[in-house]
Order: sequence, then structure tokens, then C-alpha cells
Amino acid sequence: MSTNIYSRILLKISGEVLQGRNKFGIDINSLKKIAKEIKLILNIGVQVGLVIGSGNLFRGTTLSKVGINRIACDHIGILSTIINSLAMQDIMNNYSIHSCVMSPIPLHGICETYTYQRAIKLLSKHYVVIFAAGIGNPLFTTDSAACLRGIETQSDIILKGTKVDGVYSKDPEKYSQVTLYKKLTYRDVIKHELKVMDLSAFLLARDHNLPIIVFNINKNESLYRIIKGYNEGTIITN
Ligand code: UDP
Repeated sequence: MSTNIYSRILLKISGEVLQGRNKFGIDINSLKKIAKEIKLILNIGVQVGLVIGSGNLFRGTTLSKVGINRIACDHIGILSTIINSLAMQDIMNNYSIHSCVMSPIPLHGICETYTYQRAIKLLSKHYVVIFAAGIGNPLFTTDSAACLRGIETQSDIILKGTKVDGVYSKDPEKYSQVTLYKKLTYRDVIKHELKVMDLSAFLLARDHNLPIIVFNINKNESLYRIIKGYNEGTIITN
């Protein structure tokens, strides 16, 4: 297959992917691996928007269990996504990838303030635009940011890069008898309560007819294969 199936993608990477085998923090080798995978698809002309979670550092729900106010915890989670985004940007720089970190919360001297017009302009110039700070509000997740920014920047698809091969009938890390789905509809996911992403983010994608592929970003060239139309991960459409 020589043509690209998608020309502009929104890649969402959960924070856990960044921590590699560690239990907390950023693993430099994981950052390098992601940069290499992105470089492969930039080389064939794909435009890439990137949202990175922060489960490797802080998540609002987990942190609030120690007794810190939930809203403050979410602010800490939001700031953690900026930390991950800046680390990712620096490593991409080492691979000669042009990129721009944008945040809806102004952070003068650290990154640009998000506007959809500027983001689209940069994507058209083949910059990787890293959408940091989620949607900028507590009580949301970076899944919502991925779907929102994906819609705003007219991306063809949301590619959710995880540590597993796609959407399963049950959590593959907890159960041995599981089915890996290749194709699902939005309706299937809701009916069977399958774990794809948080529900408000998922409904946003569904309402805007934005397809989603959940795939294993740790598998070599999986991102490239998706762009070329090969069967990789689980695709969710209407
Ligand atoms: N967060 C938030 N609003 C947003 C995006 C993120 O409050 O728009 C906070 C929230 O506390 C969340 C944390 O940032 O738990 C990290 O995001 P997420 O849980 O999506 O990270 P991931 O699971 O993808 O690593």
C-alpha cells in the first residue's frame, strides 16, 4: 500500500507509556521510541497533533485520595502534562523534528498559548503540535483534550497509543481469557461498556463522527502501519 490513509492525525499517548518499565516518572528510552515512531510518519507527509497524558506523574483522581482537594489535584495533573510535553519536545528536537507546545493556560516563556487557527497553521507546515495542559480545566482528562483538539484541528482520526494491542473484552492485564476486538462501532463500546477512553471524551468523538484507533505504540512501526492502512489495533467507527 503506497498511499497514506490519513493525512492529519491526533495522536494521544497515555502518561504510562512514558514511564516505560518504571513505576513513576519519565523514561528517556520511551521518549526516544515515540519520537522515532512519529518521525517515520512525518517522513511520509503525515501531519501530527500530539496529546500526552500524565499518569506517569500525577492523576487528579489518584492524588485526591491522599487528602488534597480534587480541583487542586487536577491542576497538578494539568501541570504534569506540560512537564511531559516539554520533555517530549526536547527529545523530538534531537531527532530534528520541528514541534510546538501549546497550552490553553498561558505560560509565557515556556510555550505558546493555544488557538485553533495557529495550531492548524503549524500542522500545515508539518510541525508536530503538542497540545499540553489538557483542555485547561479540572474534572476532565487528556482523552477529552485529544478528542476536542482532534475536532478543532480537523484531524482525520484519533490514534490512542497504549501499552496493549487494542480494545479487549476484559482487562488483559487482569484476565487471561480475553478477546481482542479488531473493529467496533461507537454503539458496541457503549452497550458493552468497553474501556476505550473516558465516556465524555468518547461521546464527543462519536457526536462528531471522528474515528478512533486504539493500538500498541510500543510495537515497532505500528503507527506507520496504521497510516498505510494495515490492520493494527482496534478501530471504532459508526
Ligand atoms: N487533567 C485535567 N483536565 C484536563 C486534562 C487533564 O484536570 O483537561 C488532569 C486530571 O487530573 C488527569 C491528569 O490531568 O487525571 C492527567 O491526565 P490523564 O488522566 O488523562 O492522563 P493519562 O491517563 O492519559 O496518562
